[in-house]
Amino acid sequence: EVLSVGDILEPLIEQHTLKSEKPVHISVDIEPEDLALTADRTHFSNIISNLIDNAIKYSPGEAEVNIRCRQINAAEQGKLVEIAISDRGIGIAPEKQSHIFDKFYRVPTGNLHDVKGYGLGLFYVKTMVGKHGGSISVKSEPGKGSTFVVRLNKQADD
Ligand code: ATP
Ligand code: MG
Repeated sequence: EVLSVGDILEPLIEQHTLKSEKPVHISVDIEPEDLALTADRTHFSNIISNLIDNAIKYSPGEAEVNIRCRQINAAEQGKLVEIAISDRGIGIAPEKQSHIFDKFYRVPTGNLHDVKGYGLGLFYVKTMVGKHGGSISVKSEPGKGSTFVVRLNKQADD
């Protein structure tokens, strides 16, 4: 199914903003405006939803989230759609970053016990991104924030 990135993001952003108890500001930047890709609607929505959920959850106080979507013309893989979700939350220590995609893994934190979860979101995200032949990476600095970057083929190859 051909999905418009903007059309998928819009309701997700609204849902997450409305359901949150804390102030949430999500800015979106999609270039080109009509950026689209072929993917399963449910899988794609759930991938983005999980990453937005984390960006909000792991931002104490107010959540300041930016979502940047671009098309990339990679020499080897062809056309890709890149979605980068950035927050200014607690960040992830370098030595923990390789574990966060593992099933049931949660970073042990002393002061954020009220943040609930099963450690399944990123495991799901990584599995689904892999199913679509894509990739996910993270850049993060403790105390500064995190950016998760998802890359998916623009054209489905299955
Ligand atoms: P679930 O998603 O199942 O409700 P969860 O959010 O704890 O629970 P994941 O989404 O898989 O699980 O994330 C795994 C861990 O990675 C989190 O518990 C958290 O420690 C860390 N993490 C994930 N996203 C972020 C983020 N944006 N900022 C800081 N830490 C993060
Ligand atoms: Mg999560």
